[in-house]
Amino acid sequence: MKRSSSGGVREHWEELVKTAAQVEASTLGAYEPARAGFTWEAARGELDGLPGGHGLNIAHEAVDRHAAGPRREHLALRWIGRHGDVRDFTYQALAEWSNRCAGALTVLGLRKGDVVAVLAGRIPELYIAALGILKAGGVFCPMFSAFGPEPVQARMRIARARVLVTTTSLYHRKVEPIRSDLPDLEHVLLVRDGDGPIDVPGAHDFGERLAAADTRFVIPPTDPEDPALLHFTSGTTGRPKGALHVHEAVVAHHVTGRLALDLHPDDVFWCTADPGWVTGTSYGIIAPLTNGVTSIVDEGDFDAERWYGILRDQRVTVWYTAPTAVRMMMKMGTALAQQYALPHLRFLASVGEPLNPEAVMWGVEAFGLPFHDNWWQTETGGIMIANFASMPIRPGSMGRPLPGIDVGIVRRTASGVEEIDDPDVEGELALRQGWPSMFRGYLHDEARYRACFAGGWYLTGDLARRDRDGYCWFVGRADDVIKSSGHLIGPFEVESALMEHPAVAEAGVIGKPDPVALEVVKAFVALKSGYAADEALRRSLLAFARQRLGAAVAPKEIDFLPTLPKTRSGKIMRRLLKARELGLPEGDLSTLEPL
Ligand code: AMP
Repeated sequence: MKRSSSGGVREHWEELVKTAAQVEASTLGAYEPARAGFTWEAARGELDGLPGGHGLNIAHEAVDRHAAGPRREHLALRWIGRHGDVRDFTYQALAEWSNRCAGALTVLGLRKGDVVAVLAGRIPELYIAALGILKAGGVFCPMFSAFGPEPVQARMRIARARVLVTTTSLYHRKVEPIRSDLPDLEHVLLVRDGDGPIDVPGAHDFGERLAAADTRFVIPPTDPEDPALLHFTSGTTGRPKGALHVHEAVVAHHVTGRLALDLHPDDVFWCTADPGWVTGTSYGIIAPLTNGVTSIVDEGDFDAERWYGILRDQRVTVWYTAPTAVRMMMKMGTALAQQYALPHLRFLASVGEPLNPEAVMWGVEAFGLPFHDNWWQTETGGIMIANFASMPIRPGSMGRPLPGIDVGIVRRTASGVEEIDDPDVEGELALRQGWPSMFRGYLHDEARYRACFAGGWYLTGDLARRDRDGYCWFVGRADDVIKSSGHLIGPFEVESALMEHPAVAEAGVIGKPDPVALEVVKAFVALKSGYAADEALRRSLLAFARQRLGAAVAPKEIDFLPTLPKTRSGKIMRRLLKARELGLPEGDLSTLEPL
């Protein structure tokens, strides 16, 4: 497909219909037969299992099985530093480094099932740690490095993390202020990111520990149901939820990487997501490695020219990114993209938020390729719905269910759920329970976990509709969680932090629509008597929230209100705040507390 400078969605529409050759070259092939012929058991057969029949371990499938075979010297991971320095890891090297890490953790007394939190930017040590933790029987719990001390503390406490891997500077900024509130934390492993020595009493030097460890490590027997990954996500109310995944999830990571991202063994794959979020782990670490491809990791932040440079210089073939990034690139203009020769690029995919049809088609203008939207969430562990390489794209649609995944559009009823069979009718998106990467619990929160299931369905909390041909269309969230730059943010967490400010009596937080980030966090605050609602206080509240929550979670805007609208039972009506903010009809106010 040629790049075009004229723009226009309709002009290219027909090009999105696939040719027979494209269908043949894709990993899925024709959709219907692929779906009919698929079983999870057969998918499991694509993986090796631990030698001697000792179970299934994600890290073995990701690195060791390649390191033991002909792909030993194949480039597994190319890391590009913020300043352009490069570090390469073959499968063999990655196997050895992760062995060292597993050995070092074992020496520290890591027990099976212990949670190891990792708070780091996209540095090589993060990837080594993730694989080492999985080898040693630990549970890898990544935390986004742009979190402030409060989100870090909340998550580490729920996780009861015994070990933390982080950098010296992140430790000082984010962990030191809350260290005394982490009673379960026994060991801190620090990656030096300054010149000085490790200056935290009792902490271990990650680099030294690994240097002293053996390059060999025998992964202990691992049951496919052993916990492996803990990803935090947010709900409308209450604390963050720790979604627990098991080693068996690797079957879905592997197969979805192959089928939905169309990974072939010689691909150079770039997933731009940060491993602090689920995409950056499932598709930034695991799926590319199990599929034996070369994975690019960029430490730097978003910068359109930097990104185009990486696509070109690294000869990226498959690129997985997020709608916010696509929209930011669109803003920089098509001409900029067209300055870069990208003959290797062949497949573009996107996830995390709705991808507008204009963005799908902008891919054609800018790269000669459309973006393929796909859908999943922290709880599903892997891609569930996708526009496949072999299938005509319907711009604006999330695509069709993966083989092995049954999607339903359902309505909640007093006794459970009822399925909506008619096409194009809106309901809650549900998935038939039981795929390998389905989360196995919210850690220490059985009631919230159980509430996600009814009648054999996992209820996703998203509203969607399905057309006659089985393509799914995202409608919105059924709850109040906020999606900003692809990251899910719980309003309750933001409200709680604001409430800690002495001037704040009440706080209500919403997602305010934004043309690039989808939503930005906006807070409404009612003050205690004696405080003046002025600009100085607004600025001080913004700074207060940012310092506690970190840039990724803190509100970007704060408005003062004399009082916040509440239900008769005292719950702040975020929906009403949002409707008023947007000038929309206020809906049913029968439960509104009389003022
Ligand atoms: P997370 O658990 O942080 O990955 O967020 C999952 C949520 O992001 C989903 O429940 C959706 O609300 C949203 N989401 C993910 N992918 C898409 C997509 N392709 N289109 C629309 N929304 C999406």
